[in-house]
Amino acid sequence: MKKISVLGSTGSIGTQTLDVVREHKDIEIVALSAGRSIDLLEKQVREFKPKLACLWREEDAKDLKLRLKDMDIKIAYGMEGLIEAAVIEEADILVTAIVGMLGIRPTIAAINAGKDIALANKETLVTAGHIIMPLAKEKGVKILPVDSEHSAIFQSLQGNEQNKIRKIILTASGGPFRGKTIDELKNIRPEDALKHPNWVMGRKITIDSSTMVNKGLEVIEAKWLFNVEREQIQVTVHPQSVIHSAVEYEDGAVIAQLGTPDMRLPIQYALYYPNRRTLSGEPLDLFKLRDLSFFEPDIETFRGLKLAYNAIDRGGNIPTAFNAANEYAVAAFLDKKIKYLDIIDMIEASMEHCAFKDNPSVEEILETEDNTYDFLRSRW
Ligand code: NDP
Repeated sequence: MKKISVLGSTGSIGTQTLDVVREHKDIEIVALSAGRSIDLLEKQVREFKPKLACLWREEDAKDLKLRLKDMDIKIAYGMEGLIEAAVIEEADILVTAIVGMLGIRPTIAAINAGKDIALANKETLVTAGHIIMPLAKEKGVKILPVDSEHSAIFQSLQGNEQNKIRKIILTASGGPFRGKTIDELKNIRPEDALKHPNWVMGRKITIDSSTMVNKGLEVIEAKWLFNVEREQIQVTVHPQSVIHSAVEYEDGAVIAQLGTPDMRLPIQYALYYPNRRTLSGEPLDLFKLRDLSFFEPDIETFRGLKLAYNAIDRGGNIPTAFNAANEYAVAAFLDKKIKYLDIIDMIEASMEHCAFKDNPSVEEILETEDNTYDFLRSRW
């Protein structure tokens, strides 16, 4: 029986991971972690009976311990707790369904402990891909992508390890504001941006999708996962989200993965790789599809993607400044403290302000994050 630990079990990816586990009943959950959702975590613990559960704050962990006093379970908290859940001896796979750069240290710890990683937490690869990918290779652990586009690319690569990739076609829905002008974006409110046309996701990634920063993060993620140059990644707006992404080989053959927008499929593929399992729900019905359309992204209006290209080209800790500024700005936008277009201005200013460091260590990445936050606090 496979054993997994899930960081961020109460979120969108986390709960869908548990749906997959529930459906197949042959995976054991050995650790679960959440930020502050005590009620849901308690329910999950009672259902899956892990050996360890973790919350972010000590007082919440104490509360959970009291609630679960009838159970034989260890309760941990904070970064130490996340790392403990990541390296727990019994786990074969760590699912990183936590949001943000918080995932860096637990992910690295899990790789060092020899765990395969089912990676949803893209912010970790964006900022520390240069550390994570070589380390995973050295330790012989698999990084199994959960992001639907990257899973589609991964699936399209199966059986083709010897063949050269000419290009990766990374599809993007274009988000809820596709086709809008800068002027029309000025007064977007959080409630407008939280409505994604095709996917139901966590709040941060939904905002990231609307600004196309998410696609920028995904380009950086793809560069690390598949060892390709930025120029080999072609972002293609495909509003129907049917083709989840594709790989073009040297002979011009394009191999793609198609499906309904259901994150359980990439999660399940990562958990059972290289095997496929049945999955409940409506499969794709080609006869119901009318038009599949494809457009070039508008990177002048949605500058998040353009800034991500710039972050890749500059390298070093600039992708960290890009990502950290976005995390800060999105939280501020959701709290209604800044305007929608400020998100991109804050990212751009942070990238310009960032003191460049080549090949940054984990400490330098986290320092860049702190410096970015300090800079933004002083300016906005
Ligand atoms: P959610 O916001 O829905 O969930 C985030 C999870 O992280 C929750 O369990 C949350 O706990 C936990 N968390 C938040 N803060 C902390 C903290 N300080 N300490 C410990 N845990 C914390 O996010 P998503 O599921 O949407 O996204 C997770 C990751 O997956 C992101 O990196 C995202 O980019 C990526 N991803 C998501 C997709 C999706 O469809 N949702 C698709 C592809 C990638 P709590 O509930 O207590 O707040």
